[in-house]
Amino acid sequence: MTARIIDGKAIAADLRGKVAGEVKRLTQAHGLTPGLAVVLAGNNPASESYVGSKAKVTLETGMRSFDHRLPASVSQPELLALVKQLNADPAVHGILVQLPLPEQVDASAVLNAIDPAKDVDGFHPVNAGRLASGLPALAPCTPLGCILLAKTVHASLTGMEAVVIGRSNIVGKPLLQLLLAENATVTVAHSRTRDLPAVCRRADLVFAAVGRPEMVRADWIKPGAIVIDVGINRVPAANGKSRIVGDVAYAEAAEVAGAITPVPGGVGPMTIACLMVNTVRAACATAGLPPPAV
Ligand code: NAD
Repeated sequence: MTARIIDGKAIAADLRGKVAGEVKRLTQAHGLTPGLAVVLAGNNPASESYVGSKAKVTLETGMRSFDHRLPASVSQPELLALVKQLNADPAVHGILVQLPLPEQVDASAVLNAIDPAKDVDGFHPVNAGRLASGLPALAPCTPLGCILLAKTVHASLTGMEAVVIGRSNIVGKPLLQLLLAENATVTVAHSRTRDLPAVCRRADLVFAAVGRPEMVRADWIKPGAIVIDVGINRVPAANGKSRIVGDVAYAEAAEVAGAITPVPGGVGPMTIACLMVNTVRAACATAGLPPPAV
């Protein structure tokens, strides 16, 4: 193994500590305690686990957590009414509606009903548009985490060649915008890209956000490149159970890359830490205070 391992768990713990410090300062100096409302409809086990972790971290960082659990049979008007109530609640600075929503609900109608100032997931078209226009915006948490991880290796990404594999609204596209804001030269590759290995080999920075287990091989990677693996894929394990792997063939890629994130323990922990960052930022903006130091 030649690559430096980018320890997302430790970096996220450090970031959560900084958020807790800012929350303490805001509470003491301004009587402002940021609050995050999380809405879960139905009982998808993965969603329940994510929502539980988010609530736990929210409380650990000193913020207020508001949990809203709704049955899988919830109607769209009921969900919209809850979003409206949270938009109007001054104790709530961030609203997160956990996806996927039950099939009778139009997810984009619900996400678009969230006040953009409280849209800590950064999925509202107003925030996507502001981000693309270079205006202050709440940016999606996973891409924010990816940038912070890359910057632990190179403090400046200016002029670097970045390749993002995947063009989703949740990861690929916002990552493109954040990388442009860091002055990187960015290529976004996707399922129709011709000769993806050759495109990837140009990159000083590779971001894999595809959802295909171990698709990115060692010979796709330029020696010394930074590899940030967003993928979370469950595959069968030898013991008959299952294990989680990323979109990058980690063991072989680590022989070529300069630095690489493991899965699990890379991007995943950063996503929740960045949700906390966004909640503190939203609270400061709403209160008319300068942006926090995180
Ligand atoms: P998505 O399914 O919305 O998008 C996948 C993208 O990959 C698409 O844009 C598609 O064009 C591209 N793609 C598909 N097949 C390809 C191929 N053969 N070659 C090149 N590109 C191809 O997925 P998403 O929501 O962006 O998530 C991507 C992965 O990241 C998933 O594994 C997901 O579980 C994971 N994820 C992790 C976190 C985290 O916190 N770590 C957060 C969000 C998503």
